[in-house]
Amino acid sequence: MAGFKTLDDLAEVRGKRVLARVDLNVPMADGKVTDATRIERVSPTILELSRRGAKVILLAHFGRPKEGPETKYSLEPIAAATAGVLGKPVAFAGDCIGDKATAAVAAMQDGDILLLENTRFHKGEEKNDPEFTRALAANGDIFVNDAFSAAHRAHASTEGLAHLLPAFAGRTMQAELEALERGLGNPARPVVAIVGGAKVSSKIDLLMNLVKKVDALVIGGGMANTFLAARGTDVGKSLCEHDLAQTARQIMIEAAQAGCAIILPSDAVVAREFKADAANEVVGVDAVPADAMILDVGPRTVETVNQWIDRAATLVWNGPLGAFEISPFDRATVAAARHAAARSKDGKLVSVAGGGDTVAALNHAGVADDFTYVSTAGGAFLEWMEGKALPGVEVLKK
Ligand code: ADP
Ligand code: MG
Repeated sequence: MAGFKTLDDLAEVRGKRVLARVDLNVPMADGKVTDATRIERVSPTILELSRRGAKVILLAHFGRPKEGPETKYSLEPIAAATAGVLGKPVAFAGDCIGDKATAAVAAMQDGDILLLENTRFHKGEEKNDPEFTRALAANGDIFVNDAFSAAHRAHASTEGLAHLLPAFAGRTMQAELEALERGLGNPARPVVAIVGGAKVSSKIDLLMNLVKKVDALVIGGGMANTFLAARGTDVGKSLCEHDLAQTARQIMIEAAQAGCAIILPSDAVVAREFKADAANEVVGVDAVPADAMILDVGPRTVETVNQWIDRAATLVWNGPLGAFEISPFDRATVAAARHAAARSKDGKLVSVAGGGDTVAALNHAGVADDFTYVSTAGGAFLEWMEGKALPGVEVLKK
């Protein structure tokens, strides 16, 4: 990708010690990996480096250890899981610096893969401490960062190493950066954003950034209630941050100034209880009963959203349109997701989505694979949508 060094810029790696920062922060239960998606995502980079004869030394964090090493945060069980996914042996060293690491690296043959213990077992990792960073760098000739999901943190293994060793983006990092570039960096226009989810308060920066970059912003989910209330609509017992009315108005003003259309729901699915299969009805947003809450946008709104998707060349999506975890309030999210997926599959739309619940909602709708790109990076993806520079990405720039 323009502006970043990738594995294509890495001329000769045979025999070189490559420190590869990967995301192995996988969900575990009873000492077993319950979802290997993250391991699968970093496999191409590991296998390519190994195939090209590098000594591949994996650096990763796991969980949030507070006071040094803790057995429950050891990466050792994940070495075996990674070997299973790669179909190749993965050795393990009980420390990421010092004698244990040095000895394990010295024993490597070209093409071997070694996982070093949790980088966060050392305080210097999160402090980006120069001495710790030098100790990590002592075991490598080249640094490859394939952990976009950790790129919003300036840690030793995500940022510091790039100052000490020649640094390159791994294949997953590269794919993520290329997708994000197509989403907001240099997108085909018009660009439409869909933002939903529970609260405005968690997404103020994101909304402020988007109105300056996109041509239309569809607001759904609980946060739409705050916008509706801010323009004088009574949203009954709906989730609503009344104290953010001024912020919502400010976002609408900024949008108007930037020429970004704001699309709020025109109808809603309301219920009296927040639970699956609660009795519900569709009402216009100006007719929400005082004792009811909005749990989804209505069918008329879905039609409008789909029309905006039809007009869009690029779609950026974060946040479900309704309380998608409880049926039938997943309907709007599923319908819009399927529509966007179909347009993408037809080659008419570049669709980029991300966010923990958003990924879950797209999986629930069965369309995650049909979107152009679905980011599983969580916090890093949101910071990117907020327009922030990510330290782990900045250091990879040419
Ligand atoms: P993401 O994790 O993708 O960034 P959020 O965490 O911002 O998304 O939002 C997801 C949450 O928003 C879901 O738990 C969903 O139930 C909730 N939500 C969406 N619409 C509503 C609504 N109308 N009322 C209450 N909660 C809602
Ligand atoms: Mg969430």
